[in-house]
Parts: sequence; structure tokens; C-alpha cells
Amino acid sequence: MLRVHSIETFGTHEGPGVRFVLFLQGCKLRCLYCHNPDTQAMTGGTMMTVDEIVEKVEKERVYFGEKGGVTASGGEPILQAEALGVLFETLQARGIHTALDTNGALVIDAHIEHLLAHTNLVILDVKHLDDAKHRELTGKSNRNVLAFADYCEKKGITMWLRHVLVPGYTDSDEHLNAWSAYFKNFKHVERAEILPYHTLGAYKYKKLGIPYKLEGVKPPTKEQVAHAKMLLQNHLPHVYIR
Ligand code: SF4
Repeated sequence: MLRVHSIETFGTHEGPGVRFVLFLQGCKLRCLYCHNPDTQAMTGGTMMTVDEIVEKVEKERVYFGEKGGVTASGGEPILQAEALGVLFETLQARGIHTALDTNGALVIDAHIEHLLAHTNLVILDVKHLDDAKHRELTGKSNRNVLAFADYCEKKGITMWLRHVLVPGYTDSDEHLNAWSAYFKNFKHVERAEILPYHTLGAYKYKKLGIPYKLEGVKPPTKEQVAHAKMLLQNHLPHVYIR
């Protein structure tokens, strides 16, 4: 069984082509800028079996075209790696492309290994390279995240890296240079994506009664985003803005 927060059937940002996006409930990080704080709790959501999800996916399959498929996102999907691994294995056996949108912040165990063995694309959000800054931003160390990237590289799993650009937190030249330099020799990183910070999720904090710690932080300007892209391109050939 999987604890599902919600499903989006025409996702166009979570991997190649048209995606069936499965947002799973639960996350152990507490990113200051999280725009889906309602997905963080380990409770709630709807319990669904793998068969129920596969049935829904099959109904949408006609829209996938050549490139599309299923993306598991969240929340943090690897928290449910055991059942998700069964789902991805089933989908791949049916010829459906699988993508995993993850923060990679768990130690890789047998369930995660099985899940990754049936994942065509990992979309990995590397929030900060500096461990202290990563803790400040998310509440947890980045050690597992970097180990996750190493593991995918070793196994030859295609990766899209993501970076949320937050003025005053993740936009310094020094940080962006270090971030891109760290990955420059990774052969399986196909692209890097910049996600400009936005405040669209801020109202959810009020609704949930959680303090919004980035109150007053403004989204980056177009110029700041373009500058970040230029810095990442110093080491990474394919950088996109989302
Ligand atoms: S990892 Fe994602 S879901 Fe979890 S707190 Fe951070 S932004 Fe939110």
C-alpha cells in the first residue's frame, strides 16, 4: 500500500513528456521554502494499493506519447521505497518510463536499491553542498543526499539535478560555482534545473498554523536567475530554468 497525497495526470515538469505524477505523503525534511508543507506529515493522505495505481496509470497511458510516464514525487517518495519499488517494477514490466523526484536524504537500504533498479530517471534536489547550510535550510545533513548521487552515478542511472534558488540562502556565486563544480565529472547527470524560489505556498503555512520562516524573502529577479544559470553552465553543459 502507498500513502498518496494526490495525483496529477498531466504533469509536464516532473520528467520527460507528459507525466502521471504520484505525490506521496510524508517527508522528514523541513525545507524553509517548502511549498507543499501539507505533504510533510507521515499521516493522512489516501492509502492505495499498487494495483489501484497501475489501473489509474493505464487509463492515462494513451497521453504519455513516446517520452512520458510516471513520476513519484512528494513529500518524499523514498520513505515508501518498499511499495514504490513494487509499483515501479510493475510499471517497467508494462513498458512505462519511471521517474523518482527525491531529496535523496535517506541511507540507501535494500528497498531503495530495489526501487532504484526499476527507476529510469532520478530527479535529485541537491539543496546545498555545505553541510551546515543544508542543515539550516532543511533540518538535516546533506551526507545521504551526496551518497545518493554517488550511488546513482555508480549504477548508471540518469539524473536530473535540481537546485532551488533562494535569495540570501542559495544564490551566492561561491555556492553556485561549488555546486556545479561538484557534479562536473558525473557522467550520468543529464541536466541541471534551477527552480526560482516563489512564495505561492506561503498561504498553506497559515492554514496549517506553521510559522513561515522565509517571510519577507522575495523571489529572485530574472537577472538573478540568469546569473545563476550562467554560473552553473561553467561546469554543467545543460542547465534549464523551470
Ligand atoms: S524535501 Fe520537498 S517535501 Fe520535503 S520539506 Fe523539502 S521541499 Fe518540502
